[in-house]
Amino acid sequence: MRALHVIILPVRKASPHKCESARDLVRAYVGLRKRRFSRGPAQRQIDCLIIGGGPAGLTAAIYLARFRLRTIVVDAGKSRAALIPRTNNHAGFPNGISGKELLERMRQQAYRFAVEFHYDRVERLEKATAGFLATTQSRSVTARSVLLATGVTNIAPRMPAEVHDEALSGLQLRYCPVCDGYEASGQRIAVIGTGARGAKQAKFLRSYSDDVTLIGPHGPHELEPSERDRLNSLGSRS
Ligand SMILES: Cc1cc2nc3c(=O)[nH]c(=O)nc-3n(C[C@H](O)[C@H](O)[C@H](O)COP(=O)(O)OP(=O)(O)OC[C@H]3O[C@@H](n4cnc5c(N)ncnc54)[C@H](O)[C@@H]3O)c2cc1C
Repeated sequence: MRALHVIILPVRKASPHKCESARDLVRAYVGLRKRRFSRGPAQRQIDCLIIGGGPAGLTAAIYLARFRLRTIVVDAGKSRAALIPRTNNHAGFPNGISGKELLERMRQQAYRFAVEFHYDRVERLEKATAGFLATTQSRSVTARSVLLATGVTNIAPRMPAEVHDEALSGLQLRYCPVCDGYEASGQRIAVIGTGARGAKQAKFLRSYSDDVTLIGPHGPHELEPSERDRLNSLGSRS
C-alpha cells in the first residue's frame, strides 16, 4: 500500500501584497508544469536554464527541480563564494564552512533532484520562438525560461596576485564587511573605498573597532564635506 502524505498549507500572515506575489509565483510554476506534462517524455524541453552556479543559481535550481521542472545550470566556475576561506554566518554550520565546500554540497543536493550542471560560459542569449536560445562556448541550449544568477565581480586592490591570495587565505584581506565585520572586532581595520559607499562601510565597521581608516583606492578621496565630518566625528581616519 502506498503511504499517504498529507500536506497542510500554512496560513500566511504577510501583507496582502506579499500573498499576491507568492500566489502568482505558484500559479506561474503550476502553469509551466501543466504545459510540460501535456507533452510526451521524448519532447521534454528544458524548462529553465540557470546561468550561474553560485549559491543563488544552485538554490534556485534545487527549488525548480523539486517543482519537477527540467533545470540546467551553466556555470563559468568563478563563484565569489569559492573565495570564502570560512564563512561563519551561514545558518546550519555551527563551526563555519568554506565556500568551496558549501558550493560542493549545494551541487550534490541539486544533482539529487536531477539538475544538469555544465561548466561552461554563456556567450550569447537571444529570444527564440519557444523561450530563449543560449549559446555557450561548446553548445546551444533552448529553454522556456532563463534565470540570470551571474553574481558580481570583485574589484581587487592593486597588488601582486600572490600577495593578494595569501592575504585572502590568511584572513587579512576581506571582501564583505557585513559577513566579516565580526571577525575583525577590536582590530585595526583599513577600508579600501571612497565616496558615499566607502564612508558608509567605514561607519559600519566603526561599530566593531575604534581604529578604522578609509583609504581611497585611487589616491585622493571623493568625499562630501558632510561625509568627511561624519567620519571625523566617529573618530575614523580618511
Ligand atoms: C572573500 C569573500 C568572502 C565572503 N564571505 C562571505 C560570508 O562569509 N558570508 C556570506 O554570506 N557571503 C560572503 N561573501 C559573499 C558571497 O560570496 C556572495 O554573496 C555569493 O557568492 C553570491 O552568490 P551568487 O550566486 O549571486 O554569485 P556568485 O557566487 O558570484 O556566482 C555567480 C556565478 O555565475 C557565473 N557566471 C557569470 N557569468 C556567466 C556566464 N555568462 N555564463 C555562465 N556562468 C556565468 C560565475 O562564473 C559564477 O560562478 C564573500 C565574498 C567574498 C569574495
